[in-house]
Amino acid sequence: MELPIPPESPCGEVPTIELQNISKRFGNTQVLNQVDLAVYPGEAVAIIGPSGTGKSTILRIAAGLLAPDAGDIYIQGQRRIGLIEDATDPVSIGMVFQQAALFDSLTVEENVGFLLYQHSNLSAREIHDLVEDALDMVGLPGIGDRYPAELSGGMRKRVSFARAVIANPRNPKDRPSLLLFDEPTAGLDPIASTVIEDLIRSIHQSRGCSAYAIVTHQDSTIRRTADRVVFLHQGKLQWMGPVGEIDTTPNPFVRQFFSAQVEGPIHIVQ
Ligand code: ADP
Repeated sequence: MELPIPPESPCGEVPTIELQNISKRFGNTQVLNQVDLAVYPGEAVAIIGPSGTGKSTILRIAAGLLAPDAGDIYIQGQRRIGLIEDATDPVSIGMVFQQAALFDSLTVEENVGFLLYQHSNLSAREIHDLVEDALDMVGLPGIGDRYPAELSGGMRKRVSFARAVIANPRNPKDRPSLLLFDEPTAGLDPIASTVIEDLIRSIHQSRGCSAYAIVTHQDSTIRRTADRVVFLHQGKLQWMGPVGEIDTTPNPFVRQFFSAQVEGPIHIVQ
């Protein structure tokens, strides 16, 4: 499938991330089979498809947490060597996990500022102020001294967003150019989902040319957070297009998915 270049791309035409010919197998299962996917600066891309089809695997490969068996990854045109810990990427990538993945024994402030406490020379006061700004951004000012167990599921997700976007102001490279969201609204009620979807959009709008990719199968989240949608199934991208076309494309995979029909090219394993 050919990689599209967004028609208007004020942020430049070099993809923030480009996966070329990515394959990944677990045991006997070929989860990804020569997948090509590019996310351009400023873009909002949803990766959708049936459960177990490799969406989270793509995200973990994009984040540099998992190595593909074959294929290349380019970050702003630079080929990635190794994994995220090898720190070769020219820009930073933030990931928000499905479970908020906060440390239960740390306060919200210690969770959000974790990387800055570990890897920066900023003073505790400076980190405190940055954490406060990040919590403000996600609509949770002043909760830095609480523990994760004291928060609702939606609040924990928002704290994990704050942790993903916080950056050391003395190191501009630190500011994520790409955010990866894995099922950010899974398990939330419709209202809490709307709060998270609005937040994803507002963080994006406040951050110029940063891009995000979001894995979700929640209808509202696809429609409210994506500009472009890619449909993954059987190790391949089966379709991609603007979010407005998900209701009109004749693509049989997309039609079956959105009409929730049992009959069709997607075979459900019970
Ligand atoms: P999705 O996000 O689309 O639901 P995943 O990427 O989580 O799918 O998983 C795709 C397939 O790969 C599933 O069959 C899953 O069981 C398998 N898988 C994912 N991660 C691992 C792993 N670390 N070890 C073995 N199998 C895995």
